[in-house]
Amino acid sequence: MLAAAERQLALGTAFPGPTEPQLRLARLLHERVPSMELVRFTSSGTEASLNAIRAARRFTGRRRIARAEGSYHGSLDETMGPHPDTVVFPFNRTDAAATLIQAHAGELAAVLIEPVQGSAGMIPATADFLRRLREVTARHGIVLVFDEVVSFRIGWGGAQEYFGVTPELTVLGKLIGGGFPLGAFGGRADIMAQFDPSRGAPAIPHPGSLNANPMSLAAGAATLELLTREEIARINELGEQLRSRLGAALDEAGLDARVTGCGSLFAIHPSDATLRLRLFLGLYNEGVLIDPRGVGTISTALGPAEVDRFLESVATAAGRIIGHTAARP
Ligand code: PMP
Repeated sequence: MLAAAERQLALGTAFPGPTEPQLRLARLLHERVPSMELVRFTSSGTEASLNAIRAARRFTGRRRIARAEGSYHGSLDETMGPHPDTVVFPFNRTDAAATLIQAHAGELAAVLIEPVQGSAGMIPATADFLRRLREVTARHGIVLVFDEVVSFRIGWGGAQEYFGVTPELTVLGKLIGGGFPLGAFGGRADIMAQFDPSRGAPAIPHPGSLNANPMSLAAGAATLELLTREEIARINELGEQLRSRLGAALDEAGLDARVTGCGSLFAIHPSDATLRLRLFLGLYNEGVLIDPRGVGTISTALGPAEVDRFLESVATAAGRIIGHTAARP
């Protein structure tokens, strides 16, 4: 991946038109996610979400969007906190969500959903929940958007392949740029055609100085080539082992926390914020840096030795926390 990025660095980092790595990554994504009939690249997941919403609004002629409670789709007013244009439905509560969406159907351009909620703590949707969202949106002509910025890695063709549910639009980010700034959005050709600049002014312009920057695209393509079906099966299996052993280690230490996740995604949910901070700092003291929210992923660079090391550190840190707590008067 680093070699691919270095090669591109020598060739150039910004061009006023499409580049070869752009075509390469678009093809790789389309091959893995056939519902992405057309794809466009941005510099972040936030911009990809933003443009998926623009596409759905223009396509449907409706303004409002719906998202799940606890969802994160980037730093957009429409998807963060209360917003007049946004309906918030409960996550994984199939009937309640469908009823709410149906009640607002005439004004909804899009339903956005993370197949595995990332920022909320790696909480997978149920297949039944996603199927029901698919059904209710299809019935009312609402654009279903899967935000797979986090969940893409659980299947070779992303979470939509894993769960067997196909959206109109997909939003991607993070790993598709191999650690460089990149986002992508894409989907049904007639919806994406609104951005097409090849036959005069597009219905929706999408300019951006560093859209589809070739450094990120080259790094992303190299990353996706490493993330084969076999590797995904391996890191998903490693994730399963990690989650079950993590749960056992926390139980054994007597630390009040739950473990969630799916595939190579995991999260530790201590029962309160102080405990979460102490676990984060305890792991840091052991030389293990996790996201302070307690969410984590297993990458293709990791193996059983790193998982063992992580679990040993969790056991040590949790033991210290419990020891301290018990020693207090
Ligand atoms: N969607 C999801 C599900 C995310 O987790 C994130 C980033 N955490 C985003 C969108 C936004 O991506 P970015 O940070 O690249 O703007």
